[in-house]
Amino acid sequence: MSLISELVKYSNKTYEKGFVSATDGNLSLRLDNNRIAITRSGINKGDVTEHDIIIIDNQGNKLEGNGQASSELKIHLLAYNNRTDVKAVVHCHPVYATAFATSKADFTQPVFPEVILTIGPVPLCKYGTPSTEELPNSMKPHIQHSWAMLLENHGAVTFGEDIASAYNRMEKLEHTAKTIFISKLLGGKNILSEYEVEKLYSIAENTYGIKSLSKHNNLEGKSYSNMAQNSLTNSEISFSDIIDARLRARAGNQIFNKYNKPLNSKPINKS
Ligand SMILES: [Zn+2]
Repeated sequence: MSLISELVKYSNKTYEKGFVSATDGNLSLRLDNNRIAITRSGINKGDVTEHDIIIIDNQGNKLEGNGQASSELKIHLLAYNNRTDVKAVVHCHPVYATAFATSKADFTQPVFPEVILTIGPVPLCKYGTPSTEELPNSMKPHIQHSWAMLLENHGAVTFGEDIASAYNRMEKLEHTAKTIFISKLLGGKNILSEYEVEKLYSIAENTYGIKSLSKHNNLEGKSYSNMAQNSLTNSEISFSDIIDARLRARAGNQIFNKYNKPLNSKPINKS
């Protein structure tokens, strides 16, 4: 299947799954170093065909296609121009995730292990007027360390190594938001205990080969388990940040915390 065909397939899927309504949302993927394929503006994602894909360059200039590229292309360009590991971007307005974004709720507490491992931290970006520079500017503080973001009073955006992984993160994000919402109706959500955090470390190491730092290794004199536990109480850095840092370390990327500071050069604990 060609990259353009894949983009069409996942565009249609966002509509079928109810992640967008009417002409909401936009999807893109990188074709090569200076060409990005993106859905055109004003099209229902359930109706997208190969004729509705626009080719743009890294500055957003149109190279090929009929119609205008999505008006929210700045979201996509921010990701491609700041992250070489991002090859696809999915932006939707899924009901539950958008409700969280509108309620100023975030996903940084360790609730679902698989979400921590596959998505990592999900920051809430400050509101920005759609299609203006305000929106990518609100994402800038988080772009180096996130695979998914909530956009205040707007929606969600996910990134991927390919269009399938970007789409799957959107699907997982919405599923998580829906589950937490229902869980709250039933009396609240559980945060993972220290024991479960330790257990997840073990699974992460065995399953994902993340073993650059064992629980006995330390950073600024603190064990990772202590850091994780402290993070639950002082909110300085979340457990998901630490797991994300481990995943990045495995991928050879620089390790960042949520303040976009390298983890290995600055204390991250208040204690
Ligand atoms: Zn939008």
